[in-house]
Amino acid sequence: MTDLRGIGMTSQRTRMRLLDRLQAQGISNQLVLDAIGEVPRHLFVDEALAHRAYEDTALPIGFNQTLSQPYIVARMTELALQNGRPGRVLELGTGSGYQSAVLSRVATEVYSIERIKPLLDKARQRLRTLKARNVRCKHGDGFEGWSEFGPFDVILGAAAPETVPENLLSQLAPGGVLLLPVGGSSQKLIQVTLTAEGYDQTIVEDVFFVPMLEGVQR
Ligand code: SAH
Repeated sequence: MTDLRGIGMTSQRTRMRLLDRLQAQGISNQLVLDAIGEVPRHLFVDEALAHRAYEDTALPIGFNQTLSQPYIVARMTELALQNGRPGRVLELGTGSGYQSAVLSRVATEVYSIERIKPLLDKARQRLRTLKARNVRCKHGDGFEGWSEFGPFDVILGAAAPETVPENLLSQLAPGGVLLLPVGGSSQKLIQVTLTAEGYDQTIVEDVFFVPMLEGVQR
């Protein structure tokens, strides 16, 4: 049976401690804190790692990939909400599906692309278990975006390309925001906003993400 509520190290009390830590690190948006408090992160990692799910660390999910640290998920979600609740969000790198589940609680529609098929299949199962029905996933290359469902109010990347892909910028709605880690061994989280005057780019902070790779993996 899937344990949604959690016991011991996955209990509600352990989760609340994570929220306290996130607040201490400057996360203040209540919608974001509520969403993180509600999504059972222990369901997004292997059972052997479940007891570490509410630590503020990245965790392995197989295929050399990691579930992002809660702080960075919270930070990016907070940035995604800077203009209020977004309508359509595009996520690049579904991974475990955790960030998608958090986004599903604050956005109207979430579209998420993952290049590694087995990871996507597992993520889909978890999102189904959590009844996150406003998330649509596809196996594909995030560099291509998902123009069929665009333009997007927010495009959020969980893997780092070397430079900002032009193609993704073209899928932003007016006023829309692209949040993406960019760089190689040294990375910055950048934010690009589509304003009436053009694209406005700012650097948010130093980050460390897995690289964004081209093509798909079966
Ligand atoms: N948001 C995820 C983080 C997963 S790590 C979570 O909450 O678990 C980043 C993911 O991006 C990996 O699963 C990796 O396979 C994927 N990725 C890397 N390059 C990609 C690309 N071009 N298109 C889609 N996904 C990509």
